[in-house]
Amino acid sequence: MNKVLVTLGSFALLLGCGSEMENTAKKEKPESDTRTITMLKDNNRGIVNNTNSPHVKLKSIDIGDCRWTEGFWADKWRTAEKVMIPYMGTLLKGDIGHGYNNFKIAAGLKEGEHKGFWWHDGDFYKWMEASVYIYAINKDEQIINELDEIIEVIGMAQQEDGYLSTPIIIRDDIKPFSNRRYHELYNSGHLLTSACIHHRVTGKTNFLDIAIKHANYLYDLFTPIPDHLKRFGFNQTQIMGLVELYRTTQDKRYLALAEQFINMRGTYKIDDDETTKGYPIGDMVQERVPLREETEAVGHAVLALYYYAGAADVYAETGEKALLDALDRLWENVTHKKMYVTGAVGQTHYGRSSRLDKIEEGFIDEYMMPNMTAYNETCANICNSMFNYRMLTLSGDSKHGDIMELVLHNSGLSGIGIEGKDYYYSNPLRKIDGALDYENMNVEFPERQPYLKCFCCPPNLVRTIAKSPGWAYSKSENGIAVNLYGGNTLETTLLDGSEIKLSQKSDYPWDGAVQITIEESKSEPFEMLLRIPAWAKGSKVTINGQPVENIVAGSFARIERKWSVGDVVSLEMPMEVKFIEGHPRIEEVRNQVAIKRGPIVYCLESPDLPKETTITDVYISGSKELKPKFQTDLFGGVTTIETEVMIRKDTLTDMYNEVSKPILEPFRTNFIPYYAWSNRGQGEMTVFMPIIWD
Ligand SMILES: [Zn+2]
Repeated sequence: MNKVLVTLGSFALLLGCGSEMENTAKKEKPESDTRTITMLKDNNRGIVNNTNSPHVKLKSIDIGDCRWTEGFWADKWRTAEKVMIPYMGTLLKGDIGHGYNNFKIAAGLKEGEHKGFWWHDGDFYKWMEASVYIYAINKDEQIINELDEIIEVIGMAQQEDGYLSTPIIIRDDIKPFSNRRYHELYNSGHLLTSACIHHRVTGKTNFLDIAIKHANYLYDLFTPIPDHLKRFGFNQTQIMGLVELYRTTQDKRYLALAEQFINMRGTYKIDDDETTKGYPIGDMVQERVPLREETEAVGHAVLALYYYAGAADVYAETGEKALLDALDRLWENVTHKKMYVTGAVGQTHYGRSSRLDKIEEGFIDEYMMPNMTAYNETCANICNSMFNYRMLTLSGDSKHGDIMELVLHNSGLSGIGIEGKDYYYSNPLRKIDGALDYENMNVEFPERQPYLKCFCCPPNLVRTIAKSPGWAYSKSENGIAVNLYGGNTLETTLLDGSEIKLSQKSDYPWDGAVQITIEESKSEPFEMLLRIPAWAKGSKVTINGQPVENIVAGSFARIERKWSVGDVVSLEMPMEVKFIEGHPRIEEVRNQVAIKRGPIVYCLESPDLPKETTITDVYISGSKELKPKFQTDLFGGVTTIETEVMIRKDTLTDMYNEVSKPILEPFRTNFIPYYAWSNRGQGEMTVFMPIIWD
């Protein structure tokens, strides 16, 4: 089936474009189309190319240096390679997703209207980026050949002056940069990032040239900043894109422009004008307070975290303390006052900021954490991990790696079905059917959808899975840091140019044992940093069987020594099942607990309860055993938690009810990983539930 999909994907491209291409053969190709340049040097091909960034402690490994070999992430990565990305390609290149059609129409290769939201170009670039990460490992030339054809069309769609956003190109009635809700800079950001990644992996410049032409257009347009453009940069991926382009080209104008998009915020009066009409203003887009003065995460969660991630990239180059201080404050605020136990962010679909601006899909008050109506857009959760990856590189503090891990294993993965072909946009922590009208709960869909009209999340998640091996390790000044665990091999050069080869064996996250073997390294001493998650208290590390002292959870364990080929570092993280409770100020989870084992948050779902049971009638018994059990045949192999819950039999029908002793019946059930919920048809689900102690 997978193979058919791949074939179909490229067939569709060949068949679909053949005649259209002929029609426009006269149209000039971009000059640089076939030009290639020398491959970038080692240490300059990271997902984030921070090798020469002066204010970064942990530098990227090159894309392709690490590959998942076995276990959890290897399975997910292979699904991305064989199903997620080819399937998404058929959607986006066909008439459902329409992403590619928009470029063809804008290029004059096809008749028709623009379809999809304003930001759909950006979603298409994300899919392209995901494809490149896969190519970096599997070297399937068909991927690059297909991208070359697409890039040619994108080049044709690009306007003479460098402008590139297909909805505006296709429509006659809207001028470029007339209203920020058209998301032009969002499309720009994903274009620049995707083109930089394409260049780093392939050495080709066909995509990069388009990005450069576009960035030059942006620079000329926005510098010096005209008054009517001050509020642009709505969904600010362009900051990350511009910094990455600066790193690729060394052209300082792009860094300056990136910084300008931060500096502009909060410098003008917050009133509606012709560039903002049709979408909430103020805190919604983080424009009420300058970033350097901000103390609270506000507004649309995706917008906020892309913005923070971009600012972290700028800091990596400029080292401006005020910027880092602000990012640290905002990280504290998000992580300790507005983040769900799954690493998800964006508590509500509609609401108000503490400064009373209207908010959509975003942050609300501190500790206000509804479960059922939590919005938690998949993109927002992914952006949280992107922000944390950058903060990890800046600070070297393992707490940021903990959040990456939390998102990756929970609120990121929940955005896609086990089969890899259906998607959630929002990721609530509880779902109830029946008496409650689903539509009124503002959480989009009762089950994952094979296509989302707003298609920002699926390619965002898929590119994250595709690039996850690039996040697994970082390079320290003299050594290597292990950020993520799972079976993999690493073959890279340390920052001093010496070669290093490692292999990691682990059944993480189902098992807490990790074994890292040195396959090749320099003879001089260097350090290995192992992230000991904050939850992994009591972790033990040995080298060739000899214990290493002072292993502290919530930090990197640092082992500096002369290494020899065959040295084995073993990490043993205790994987007991735990109850997690919220801060007393989170009213929504008072006297409720969630179940967590290692980095995995669990949930209980209808298929594991007697028929007709409402999830709100289930109570956890605090004194019953919580028994982990690996189930090979469930969701591709997961550890479930078996325990006895109590099911309440008397029903509460009124808004308020007189209390009598409830009738409770015991029931043995299995909790499943949260990310795997909603793969067995529609039903109810909850992460938190009330606890009863004997
Ligand atoms: Zn999204």
